[in-house]
Amino acid sequence: MTSRAISRRLSVLRLSSQVFRVQSHKTFSASVDSTHSCRKALILHHLRDNRIDEAREILSRDPSPDVNLCTMMISAYARSNRLVDALKVFDQMPMRDVVSWNSMINGCVECGALDTAMTLFDEMPERTVVSWTTMVNGCFRSGRVAEAERLFHQMPRRDTAAWNAMIHGYLQFGKVDDAFKLFTLIPCPNVVSWTSMIGGLDQNGNSGGALVLFRKMMDSRVKPTSRTFACVITACANAPSFHLGVQVHGFIVKLGFFFEEYVSASLITFYANCKRVEDSRKVLDEKVHVNVAVWTALLSGYSLNRKHEDALSVFSVMLKADILPNQSTFTSTLNSCTALEALDRGKEIHGVAIKLGLGSDVFVGNSLVVMYSECGNMHDAASAFTGVSGKNIVSWNSAIVGYAQHGNGRWALEIFCRMVRLNVEPDEITFTGLLSACSHCGYLEKGRKLFEYMSRRNPVDIKLQHYTCMVDILGRSGKLKEAEEFIESMPVKPNEMVWLALLGACRMHSDIDRAERAAEAILELEANTSAVYVLLSNIYASARRWSDVSRMRGKMRQSGIRKRPGKSWVVMKGEKHEFCTGDRTHPMTDKIHEKIEFLRRKLREMGYEPDKRYALHDVEEEQKEEMLWNHSERLAIAFGLVSSRVEGSTITVMKNLRVCGDCHSVTKLISIVVGREIVVRDTTRFHHFKDGVCSCGDYW
Ligand code: ZN
Ligand code: ZN
Repeated sequence: MTSRAISRRLSVLRLSSQVFRVQSHKTFSASVDSTHSCRKALILHHLRDNRIDEAREILSRDPSPDVNLCTMMISAYARSNRLVDALKVFDQMPMRDVVSWNSMINGCVECGALDTAMTLFDEMPERTVVSWTTMVNGCFRSGRVAEAERLFHQMPRRDTAAWNAMIHGYLQFGKVDDAFKLFTLIPCPNVVSWTSMIGGLDQNGNSGGALVLFRKMMDSRVKPTSRTFACVITACANAPSFHLGVQVHGFIVKLGFFFEEYVSASLITFYANCKRVEDSRKVLDEKVHVNVAVWTALLSGYSLNRKHEDALSVFSVMLKADILPNQSTFTSTLNSCTALEALDRGKEIHGVAIKLGLGSDVFVGNSLVVMYSECGNMHDAASAFTGVSGKNIVSWNSAIVGYAQHGNGRWALEIFCRMVRLNVEPDEITFTGLLSACSHCGYLEKGRKLFEYMSRRNPVDIKLQHYTCMVDILGRSGKLKEAEEFIESMPVKPNEMVWLALLGACRMHSDIDRAERAAEAILELEANTSAVYVLLSNIYASARRWSDVSRMRGKMRQSGIRKRPGKSWVVMKGEKHEFCTGDRTHPMTDKIHEKIEFLRRKLREMGYEPDKRYALHDVEEEQKEEMLWNHSERLAIAFGLVSSRVEGSTITVMKNLRVCGDCHSVTKLISIVVGREIVVRDTTRFHHFKDGVCSCGDYW
């Protein structure tokens, strides 16, 4: 119900109140056995057990209802969000005192009907400081900061609670300076004032200032509460200030606040933030009663410290102990699944979230989208995205970035169109996602249009990563000259990523001269140069310029740069099986190589010719083919084939480098031979191989 409708209803009710009193008088006469005090006891009994309607029924039989009882009814209705009923009771009161007026105004504020509250406040015969403060709070709750300020200045008298309301409101709106100014003006700040100011400074990014203020508070001899300590320990975690935190921990134990749930949860987060997650565990072990907040703090602590296996085991322990995980438990757990690329564990956790009714929660849903897409399953990522209710910008971005990584540019752009139709404002991540989708799909014109659109929208918002994407789009499409000119015309200084995009494109299109220029530019920036030498040496190798290859190798040795060894892995039942090139250490090596031999024979029958350029060594031709079959991604695929029992299931392989051209052709053929989908994630994207084609359309 809108506030205007409520006001209308209120005036109608006032007219009818006279009639009501006559009726209730009649009811009263009929029930002769109810005495006044018995009725009062019964009403209180019902209210205590939250049976408001029963209480109301008895109250309505009273010809002259008690002011206190009516006020209690009003508060009970407001708490249950039944404002109209509360207003009815208020209107039918034979007389009202200042408490009933304040309760009614507060009820309106609680139910979000600020205009009705304002009308009542204006009508109120005698306002107290509580009435004024309630209105100040209400204005902040409705985001009407200027009105709150006006009321605060008009207040004839202010107590500390009024000052605190104003400070708290300012802090909620990030107006830290205004809050602090008021804080310095309060005649006698109490513990609430200090605690809000400390917490507010911390939440608004000034954890150092929060800690300074805490020291002042200790000097001022105001006694801190458990809330204060929770705020202080959080500030220590955010600063981070390990030594002060440990001291505060001592105070907490000494003053007996340790067993308060939010204090111990903050302590756990504090130790985790200071990279001492083992101490977090100790805090948890010392607690007698451990609840969801405390467990979640520990789980998030593990996740933050990249101890993802531990995070997942905390989740299992919670379930076994019948402690129901909440929204933040799920987000942290799913982030750990993503980091471990553990799709099967992620799916299990998704199942638990659905059972607990959190499957479509926006935070849980966003984590699900990221988990599924990063683990190679864009299909489930898409349905998780559809299921998210009340999508925020993170939801939209996760879907767009997911589709981009999986090379599904059409859907990335479709999601963007939906966003625009729903008036959701895109941010820089949205545009990075869209541009990289264009680059992965070879959408040259769409990419250009998008970049023009961004320039028209706000050129200041174009960041270096967007320029990098644009160079990538141009370069991959073979517009190398245009890409180089684009870099030269950039209004900001290009970084090594921009040049690396050009260098990568030069490798794709074997443009040695331009590659050398790009490499030179990167070396001038004195950035991390290992990628430059690797790319250049690959370019020379594919042009069979072996002397240049060894020159590059020499330079890498000189500067102590090692080529990152190629690695591929498969995560199966939560376990990671990793393979290096030519790896023979896996327990299933014999079976894997049997499979490799089988595939090799099959592919030869299909007429496959290895592209020996990708062997990248100056060795005999026959050896080159041997080397290609030892590439880590082929070993991982073979492992996936021999170890996954489910017929026709998808095999997902992760790789730390870009997939080489020959492995790409081979994997396409393998997908025909085995009749399965093979997903390979390399450094930039996912390739979905099925029935002899790759989702990237050989464009990567
Ligand atoms: Zn390869
Ligand atoms: Zn591909």
